[in-house]
Amino acid sequence: MNKIIMGVAALTLPCAAFAGAYGDMFKNGHLRFDYTPQEISALEQRAAEELDINLNFLAAIPADKRDFTNTVRALEDAYTSYWFVPKNLSLLSYFHQNADVREAAANLEAKGVDKKLSVFARKDVYKALKEYADTKPQLNHEDARLLAKWLERFERAGMALSEKDAKAYAKLNTERLNKITQYNVNLNNYKDELVVTREELDGLGETYINRLERTKDGKYIVTLKYPDYNPFMSSAKSEKARKSLQEKFARRGGKENVKLLEDTVELRRKQAALLGFKRYPDYVLPVRMAKNYETLEAFLKNLQKEVTPLAQADIQAYLKLKEETTGQKADEMTAWDLPYWSNQYKKKYYQVDDDKIKEYFPTDKVISGMFEVFGNLFGVTFIKADLPTWHPDVIVYQIKDKKTGELISNFYLDLFPRDGKYTHAATWSFVDRFELPDGQMQTPSVVIAANFTPAGNGVPSLLEHSEVETLFHEFGHVLQMSMATSKYATLTGDNVAWDYIEAHSQLLENWAWQPQVLKKISAHYKTGEALPDELISSLVKSKNVGVAAAFLRQNFLGQYDLALHTAAKRVDSTQLYSQMMKDISGIPMTKGTYPQASFGHIMSLTDPYDVGYYVYAWSLVIAQDIFSRFEAEGLFNAELGAKLRKYIYTPGTVYDENEMVEKFLGRPYNDKAFLKSLGIN
Ligand SMILES: [Zn+2]
Repeated sequence: MNKIIMGVAALTLPCAAFAGAYGDMFKNGHLRFDYTPQEISALEQRAAEELDINLNFLAAIPADKRDFTNTVRALEDAYTSYWFVPKNLSLLSYFHQNADVREAAANLEAKGVDKKLSVFARKDVYKALKEYADTKPQLNHEDARLLAKWLERFERAGMALSEKDAKAYAKLNTERLNKITQYNVNLNNYKDELVVTREELDGLGETYINRLERTKDGKYIVTLKYPDYNPFMSSAKSEKARKSLQEKFARRGGKENVKLLEDTVELRRKQAALLGFKRYPDYVLPVRMAKNYETLEAFLKNLQKEVTPLAQADIQAYLKLKEETTGQKADEMTAWDLPYWSNQYKKKYYQVDDDKIKEYFPTDKVISGMFEVFGNLFGVTFIKADLPTWHPDVIVYQIKDKKTGELISNFYLDLFPRDGKYTHAATWSFVDRFELPDGQMQTPSVVIAANFTPAGNGVPSLLEHSEVETLFHEFGHVLQMSMATSKYATLTGDNVAWDYIEAHSQLLENWAWQPQVLKKISAHYKTGEALPDELISSLVKSKNVGVAAAFLRQNFLGQYDLALHTAAKRVDSTQLYSQMMKDISGIPMTKGTYPQASFGHIMSLTDPYDVGYYVYAWSLVIAQDIFSRFEAEGLFNAELGAKLRKYIYTPGTVYDENEMVEKFLGRPYNDKAFLKSLGIN
């Protein structure tokens, strides 16, 4: 018996990583989906037990016996083989056919995140890692990056603090999580509605009106849910009714949420202070591409400055249309008028016949065209595969390298609505790519779930152009999740900088607006004719209508999020919202409302959108800069596509993300291409 084992005689031997619960998610090398609800919970529990055993084992190794394999790699493997169990299984809550399986899977989501975070709070594991790091090992770049990422995870969770501070930190943490949970409970349970007459629904279509619930006396109920709210705000002629609905909408979450938000911001500041950061953003930003407060502030302020004239011109045009239409003076835009008049303006001057265009986009044709365009660009092929799925509607493709034939990923498409299925469009990975202990790579498995209109009445499934754009967006996520080449899951998937995460997807949206691409992906479902030039031109012309005002609103929310989290002491979040909204977006906050009570992004338990609302703009600026090279050097330029794959889609976070974008561009990125895409030169 060697010394290591003797030293930990009281411990159970480690479980072979990936052979236990993780391994049971596969049959013949493929993910399985034939679970019972009991099996789902039991698998997670087993995975959690295996994780504990493996962490206990690695923590007990004597300091002088530590090496990369038994400490860093063992931690990475223990963690990865745990995390992909709840991650994979909890996804079934979005689309499995069996409601009981969906429920069991949904229960795993929070459980998995809790367990994952509990790893970063294990002092003994941090100590083990630190012991090894203190030997100053000579490591290759990827291994060194892995070690650094792991140390960072522990240190950012307060593990490097003194015992007293660590206790204080943990207490603040629990308090903060409770506040955030309560905020979301309030938001989810919040109910209010507007009761309107048939006249007040004037402007809305029959389909919309017919699906509204009715009161006993025959009036109509408009709820605050998006499918009710958005069409009402953009189409209901009654300004009075729109104003009432907007007021209710901007009070969602209730007053208690205002306090919970302010408490949370204060707790975040205190936690950051314990970790030695003056301001909360100083804690958040170093692990993002933005890196620091000053860079981010300058980024947002500059975009505000550049976009404001265009947004103001849009708003003036809407006000003019309002005056012409109503015969009344209109000099200030309001929150309840903006969606309505921007929609009327678009309808009047940029009419796009969505129903006609749709006839040219049979779903199958769009998908095969998309595969052709991006297959050539990225040097990959898509081959239909007969793998197990969770529903007969689901189609599976294997993405392979064109040159080597190497399998890159399994790609599942679940495109049509079903009872109990997720109601938006999104992409997830069941498992990422990483190296298994035998040296083989785990094949990533990625899914797009959407809710396109299925075939029926002799008409095939057809896509609106906005759905085509969504599909391209999601496909960008698929390629990013598929193509990572790191040995370690910690350096891939959604572990990349949070302000980079939408760049890969927003980039591909650009191709959905190019006439040459629109020709390739269209074929009228009756005649087979490609989308005609005049429809293409009406579509392309309408692209930027109203975008500047919408972008300025997003910019305002980004700056609000940043300011709120930067203040040195507790601020009145309503007053700050009101002042910044007026100053930046030019539109006053509606009196008596507190929209930050439903600003769920900055109060998320799972996603780091606090000091993170800006990430959409940041990613978009990068995406547009990258696309500018394709505009200049060819949309279908395969050589450039190979570079794109190499520097943007495969590195994950093995290298610094800023560095990789610079490598692709040959210079640092900037917002010029983005502004140009809005028509600002
Ligand atoms: Zn996305």
